[in-house]
Amino acid sequence: MAWEKELDVGLRAVRAAAQVCRSVQRSITPETLAKQDKSPVTIADFASQAIVCRALAESFPQDAVIAEEEASALLAPENETFVERMLAELRATGVAAVREEVAAWIDHGRHTPHPRRFWTLDPIDGTKGFLRGEQYAISLALIVEGRIEVAVLGCPNLPAAGADNHPPGTVFTAVRGGGAQVRPLDDVRAPPRPVHTSPTRNPAQARLCESVESGHSAHGASAEIAARLGLQHPPVRLDSQAKYAVVARGEADIYLRLPTKKDYREKIWDHAGGVLVVEEAGGRVTDVEGRLLDFTCGAELARNRGVVATNGGLHEPVLAAVASVLGRGGTSPARESEEKSALNA
Ligand code: AMP
Ligand code: MG
Repeated sequence: MAWEKELDVGLRAVRAAAQVCRSVQRSITPETLAKQDKSPVTIADFASQAIVCRALAESFPQDAVIAEEEASALLAPENETFVERMLAELRATGVAAVREEVAAWIDHGRHTPHPRRFWTLDPIDGTKGFLRGEQYAISLALIVEGRIEVAVLGCPNLPAAGADNHPPGTVFTAVRGGGAQVRPLDDVRAPPRPVHTSPTRNPAQARLCESVESGHSAHGASAEIAARLGLQHPPVRLDSQAKYAVVARGEADIYLRLPTKKDYREKIWDHAGGVLVVEEAGGRVTDVEGRLLDFTCGAELARNRGVVATNGGLHEPVLAAVASVLGRGGTSPARESEEKSALNA
């Protein structure tokens, strides 16, 4: 199989990173939330990125990594206590290291401008979901000459399909041309099972998912699009690339990410893993104007606006509804000011 070693190393790394994320998530208390103390997410972000970057550097020393975090804050003397907590979390998962080593692993993910072959990593996608004890993801993808070739999407809080009363934790993988698969996150011996998007072609029956955060995707516009399509079900809101996962396994049919700000550009680590999983499961992913996502511009999807992911069969009618609500350019001026006042309300 093509990319066998890449998939194997990526899968192990994401599984190890998920362990540390779970352990930190268990430490979040109501006080943490009341104080709006972001330190758990930061500890988990750094530890997760350190684990994945270390694994990539060991197995693929030539490869660049474009990841979300950078280590400078770890080296500041005032962050001593925080760093000690992070090192303790790493030790608990079997990684004994000093601060400087961890900082070097994290900064392995500091991007060079336009590498031919690179990995992109979101060590914790869906920070808000992580803090609320809801959905978050660890997303890793290998991109070669602008094409996503391998994807590993760990969803520590997503139950297996139809198994809501089992302990959660799934990991989705995809290799271009090889389909998409799901495995339990924790059972390394369980065989992968193929996942497929839904066959739904009737927009009225379609299930839409979107961000919980209205600052990340325009909820007002998506409600209008849903009305135009005649959707019967209310939208399902969940954080992180778990949205791509539920489209890939046919639990949702449409994922809309509609621009809330004219100048915001989507980050590649927020999408690359999920995009390949959906495409290989039979779905389609474009931006709001129907363009393929362009992963050749560094850390941002500089040539795209928003994201539309579907089961495949619904893509054209969904794009038509998106165009009729947003107009050309992806955000109509009237729509934008309406969203802005909603945000400020
Ligand atoms: P979600 O969990 O789908 O709400 O997405 C979380 C991601 O949204 C984070 O990883 C951020 O990188 C990203 N993000 C931050 N600001 C925006 C924005 N204005 N529009 C879209 N995505 C954003
Ligand atoms: Mg993210």
